[in-house]
Amino acid sequence: MNSFMEECLILLKPDCIEKSCIGEIISRIERTGLTIAKMRMVHVSPDLISEHYPDDPSWLKTVGLKKIQKFQAKGRVLKEDSLSIGKKVRASLIHYFSGKQVIVIVVKGTNAIACMRKIAGNTEPFTAEPGTIRGDYSTDSYEVADSLDRPIQNAIHVSDSPESSQREMEIWFSKHS
Ligand code: ADP
Ligand code: MG
Repeated sequence: MNSFMEECLILLKPDCIEKSCIGEIISRIERTGLTIAKMRMVHVSPDLISEHYPDDPSWLKTVGLKKIQKFQAKGRVLKEDSLSIGKKVRASLIHYFSGKQVIVIVVKGTNAIACMRKIAGNTEPFTAEPGTIRGDYSTDSYEVADSLDRPIQNAIHVSDSPESSQREMEIWFSKHS
C-alpha cells in the first residue's frame, strides 16, 4: 500500500456494450497494470443515474463551460450560459441511460484516477487523441450529439477525483446492491 493508491469508479456505457467492445476496453485497463477490484452489470434506473450525475450547480457549470470553451476554440460563440447547458446535458444523460445496462468497475492502483482519465481521453471522441479509448472507439462530437438530441457517446465514464470516486462507489455498490 502506498499513499498514491486510489480506487477509480468506471462505467462502460450502453454504447460500449452495444458495440461489443467490453472485452477490448477491459484489456486496455488491465494493460496499464491497474487491478480490477470489483465489477458488476447493472440495469440502470432513473434514480440511480440521477444520483450518479448530480444536480449540483458547480458540476453542471463545469460541464457547460467545457462545451463553451470547445466552441470558442472553433471561433463559435454560444449564447447559452454554462448552467443551462449543464442542466440540458444532465436531463439528456438521465433519459439516455435509464432502462439500459452498464458495466460498473472499480479499478485500483497507484494514481488510478489520473491514469484512467488519461487512457479514456477527452470527453468528445472527435477531438480525443488517437490511442485513447474515446478516440478509438467513437467518432462522436458535440455537434452530432446536439443534432440527435442525446448525450455524447464516448464509451466510458471515469471518476474525476478521489471524492467523486468514493461517492460513485457508494451509489453503484452499496445503496442499490
Ligand atoms: P467526462 O465524462 O469526460 O468526465 P463530463 O463529466 O463533463 O465529461 O460529462 C459527463 C458526460 O456527459 C460525458 O461523458 C458525455 O457523455 C456527456 N456530455 C458532456 N457534455 C456534453 C454536451 N455538451 N453535449 C452532450 N453530451 C455531453
Ligand atoms: Mg465527468
